[in-house]
Amino acid sequence: MKDHETLGERLAEQGISRRAFLKFCTALASLMALPPERAAAMANALARSQRPSVIWLSFQECTGCTESLTRSYTPTLESLIFDMISLDYHHTLQAASGFAAEKSREDAMKNFYGKYLLVVDGSIPINGGGVYSTIAGRTNLDLLQETAKGAAAIIAVGTCSSFGGIPNARPNPTGAVAVSDIVRDKPIVNISGCPPIPAVITGVLAHYLTFGTLPDLDDLNRPRSYYGTTIHDRCYRRPFYDQGKFAKTFDDEGARNGWCLFELGCKGPTTHNACATTKWNGGTSFPIESGHGCLGCSEPHFWDAGGFYTPLSAPVVNIEAATLGAAIAGAGVAVAMSSLDRNKIRRAQQAHEKLTVKEL
Ligand code: SF4
Ligand code: SF4
Repeated sequence: MKDHETLGERLAEQGISRRAFLKFCTALASLMALPPERAAAMANALARSQRPSVIWLSFQECTGCTESLTRSYTPTLESLIFDMISLDYHHTLQAASGFAAEKSREDAMKNFYGKYLLVVDGSIPINGGGVYSTIAGRTNLDLLQETAKGAAAIIAVGTCSSFGGIPNARPNPTGAVAVSDIVRDKPIVNISGCPPIPAVITGVLAHYLTFGTLPDLDDLNRPRSYYGTTIHDRCYRRPFYDQGKFAKTFDDEGARNGWCLFELGCKGPTTHNACATTKWNGGTSFPIESGHGCLGCSEPHFWDAGGFYTPLSAPVVNIEAATLGAAIAGAGVAVAMSSLDRNKIRRAQQAHEKLTVKEL
């Protein structure tokens, strides 16, 4: 296999038909919340694109983010690795070890300086000079600073690399911080979640390949197409919330009837993620569909905010009704919606902050 050939050349070698590739692109367009008619343009752009070199660094983490990626279904992990990108370094998935593994990273950095994508999962411990987590005798801090220098962009995968996550929970003995606390001069996209949704990881990579840019991001650097709405905005139990029908325990009649889990501590109203639409395990289900409230895993302060079974105290605004009101108002709709979006994100952050103070 030739290194960094175009995706079109790679597919032609494998005898993959244009029809099959278009089907693949239609699925990707839907993942990226693009209209289906963009699929053909996307197929052309992807076919011409050169597979970018990707260096994946895993720091202070549980390997859940990589586990999540291996559950990706569109595209499959094999096609992601061998067709769309050139995964030149990944601790967990690479065959090489020891000096050979480190040489792969150094070669990719040298050969694709300024062009490679750096993916990071896990937080970075900075206490004691970073000694709490090392790879090949070097601290995570050192490796991140070195590898970030030549990266075109950084994708922080998971809540640990996006916001600090569980390692950052009090008392945080290792001084765990997020990638954005260390690297300030590179574009960073946060794909938060504990773990993140695999389709979101592949969707962001596909967007980069197709358009050569990172997707539109929210105030916390998360892709808007996946994190632009809350779980609550898209939850199938929402009609019960609006009717005031709440389960009081996990096994009462309300729970059996699929009523809203707000009073059992669901954090869906303040959590931005795509679980309610993308779902998990090939679109099979998501936590609320399985009968458990959202824990707010894709927001800052996840874990320390706690209160997993304590109802949110902050008032919840009916976003869809407010949006409809703005639409009826006619002129200035775009302005109204964007400020609504910003207010919504701010309110969610404030609710999490409030909860943190109340619970600790
Ligand atoms: S509170 Fe939770 S269960 Fe209820 S509608 Fe909102 S997201 Fe769904
Ligand atoms: S439902 Fe909530 S806690 Fe569960 S994975 Fe989605 S964002 Fe995280």
